[in-house]
Amino acid sequence: MTAIPSKAIWAYLLVGCAASIAAMLVGDGMAVGVYTFAAAQLPLVMWWSYRTYDVPKGMVLALTGVGLSFAAGAAIESIFGDTGTPLFISNLFALVGAIVITVGMSMLVRRRRGMNAAGVLGDALIVGLGSWLISWVAFLEPTLRLSDEPVLSSLVAGFYQPTGSVILFLMAVYLFTESTSNVASWLIGGTVLLMLVGDLIYALVTAGHVGDGILVLSTALYTMAYFTVAAAFMHRSVTAIEHSQGTGDSQRLLGRLIITTSSLVFPVIVLAASGPQDTADQIVRSMSALVLAGAVTLRVVFSVRANSDAQAELLRAAQTDPLTGLPNRILLLEQISSYVHEAWRADREPTLYFVDLDRFKNINDSLGHSAGDEVLRIVAERLVNAAPPEAMVARLSGDEYVVLDPTTKTLGSASALAERLLAVFREPIALAQGDVFVTASIGVSSIDSMAAKPEDVLRHADTAMYRAKDSGRNCMAFYDESMHERIAHRLSVETALYRALDRHELRMFHQPILDLDTGEVVGFEALMRWQQGDGTIVSPAEFIPIAEDTGTIVPIGAWALLESLTQLRRWIDDSVCSPQATMSVNVSPRQLADPSLPSIVSEALARSGVDASHLWIEITESVMISEPELALATLQKMKALGVRVALDDFGTGYSSLSLLQRFPLQRIKIDRAFVQGVADNPSDRALVRTIIAMGQSLGLDMVAEGVESLHQIQVLHELGCRKAQGYLISHPVPADAMRSTVSALERIGRFPLLRGEHRAGQL
Ligand code: C2E
Ligand code: MG
Ligand code: MG
Repeated sequence: MTAIPSKAIWAYLLVGCAASIAAMLVGDGMAVGVYTFAAAQLPLVMWWSYRTYDVPKGMVLALTGVGLSFAAGAAIESIFGDTGTPLFISNLFALVGAIVITVGMSMLVRRRRGMNAAGVLGDALIVGLGSWLISWVAFLEPTLRLSDEPVLSSLVAGFYQPTGSVILFLMAVYLFTESTSNVASWLIGGTVLLMLVGDLIYALVTAGHVGDGILVLSTALYTMAYFTVAAAFMHRSVTAIEHSQGTGDSQRLLGRLIITTSSLVFPVIVLAASGPQDTADQIVRSMSALVLAGAVTLRVVFSVRANSDAQAELLRAAQTDPLTGLPNRILLLEQISSYVHEAWRADREPTLYFVDLDRFKNINDSLGHSAGDEVLRIVAERLVNAAPPEAMVARLSGDEYVVLDPTTKTLGSASALAERLLAVFREPIALAQGDVFVTASIGVSSIDSMAAKPEDVLRHADTAMYRAKDSGRNCMAFYDESMHERIAHRLSVETALYRALDRHELRMFHQPILDLDTGEVVGFEALMRWQQGDGTIVSPAEFIPIAEDTGTIVPIGAWALLESLTQLRRWIDDSVCSPQATMSVNVSPRQLADPSLPSIVSEALARSGVDASHLWIEITESVMISEPELALATLQKMKALGVRVALDDFGTGYSSLSLLQRFPLQRIKIDRAFVQGVADNPSDRALVRTIIAMGQSLGLDMVAEGVESLHQIQVLHELGCRKAQGYLISHPVPADAMRSTVSALERIGRFPLLRGEHRAGQL
């Protein structure tokens, strides 16, 4: 079924108004008929609303009950007369209807999220009792005394009044905690108000305060009430009432407090202003006052308890990590601080183990955040199990945990515990997607100084943890003072490096690569130099890894590429070197992972006017191991451009044959470490022989790096290596020194030793 348009609902309300006015005009007998009809339509509307908007069954049953009971009550009264038993039955029906509404409202309040239902219902009870007291003094007691109706009938009528107050109160609380008020809730609120005013008039009449000519007005109000409640359940916004969230807004709480307090104050005034009429009155008054006082006391007690519970919960929530339930940074710092003050105890040295998962981002990125959360939870559990019972395991943020162990005594026991914590990660973590392995890096720092601030202790452990990451992850590192200095130094280098390019502090040096057969300079390796503002020269071995970490290597590397190629073009044009000479440029893993590398390379080639075949890029194995797919894709693009790729520092890493076969490589550079030992160390020589044999069988070009002695060069040549670079041939030199360097090398011609011309001394 479809929703009824708003306009139709307003029209329906207009009909209601007309019916109510008609009820007033047509006189008592007919009015009850209109009223009965209005009440009787309610079950139908509720059934429709249930089918269309899926309003809760309880609400449907309650309002159906209300409609039927009021209609039945009115019908009985109009058929059998409005005195004696028919009146009693009619009043009973009305009371049943009111109780049904109260129960329904209480259920709504209890179901509403974000509302303290017990508190609201307690307040409602107080309001009801207060209203009962007033109702007793103002209406019920005079009715009982003056009217000739049976006592039971008047009692039923008397109970109806406080029930009405409770309904009004619950309604007010319910509607006014509504975060967004809507049409349906206002219509329901209006209904209750109409009902209550009607009730008030009815009670005034019954108690003899006003003449019964006014009763038609109350009938008209009741009639209108049925139309408004029916309209509420026809309006589509009725669905929102159930689902909206209560707000604990303090202003609204204040409103509630005022209503509740008035329910205490007014009865007291009424009681004080009017004396009891007789003993029965006296008894009812004192009993009611006693019950009211009891209810208030209970309410206050519960309120205070709830308040302190809420405070404790707040404190707990502020100190624990919601994902793992572990203590958070705040609690950890508190605990460290208490140990800082105890640190003078010589027999133990409370120690911090900073545990950081390695490459946790990969799990999040590849398996999704819920898998990441699961990993974090499992790791938390395992750390708690592995840590000594006295230790605190906290989660700082992301993938960082801290184990704070007060029982650590010596360096030995600290490293044993760190080892145990690392062992936690040996078992795979079972996820829905399958098993995953994570490792962690652990930084260890003890709380040994009374002067230390808790934050410092934490930072020390963090520093040590970074050290562990630097030394290849999945290991531990202990904090020492020098680490702190290194970190500070690194930080200053990082900042300076950001500006180095703009400030023209970077320069390219070049080291010639010599063909051992012809004695010709066949190429150059471009090596970056950084001369800082104050003149100090920073070694690339120091600043390249930093540029790599921070990402500055990308713009710096692009600059180096263009600079070196432009230089080669100039040298060729100026006949400094042969027109076939090549330029080797180092490309670090971060650059290789950058998807724009191929376009950076082709742009540098185009701008310098150097053919792609004159460019070698030198990469290290690490990137082929860590991100093989990415590396392969980029290298294939390089190959497509016509650029050749050399594997730098060959032999130092994991170098495997499969690597050489899988990746499009055309050259290997035998690392200096082996070249150094090739002359004197038989095992190095055997290794270099193997490398060369392997390279030859794969048809690769080979360059020996770091050649420093004639003997080395001779052995390398004998083993079949045809190209070399190293201090023996030339140090890396600035561009303007290259002409003299190359011509000096060519003057010497082929290395004399290779021709067997033994000459003593230097070249
Ligand atoms: P690499 O690519 O293996 O470069 C060879 C290193 O060995 C250079 O150190 C060079 O000066 C040095 N060397 C050459 N011959 C000898 C020798 O006979 N004996 C000794 N002891 N050393 C020799 P450098 O210039 O300090 O560069 C260090 C590393 O920094 C390079 O290693 C390379 O990985 C990186 N690098 C240098 N410039 C760049 C660059 O522009 N971009 C990138 N991404 N990395 C660069
Ligand atoms: Mg290199
Ligand atoms: Mg190298």
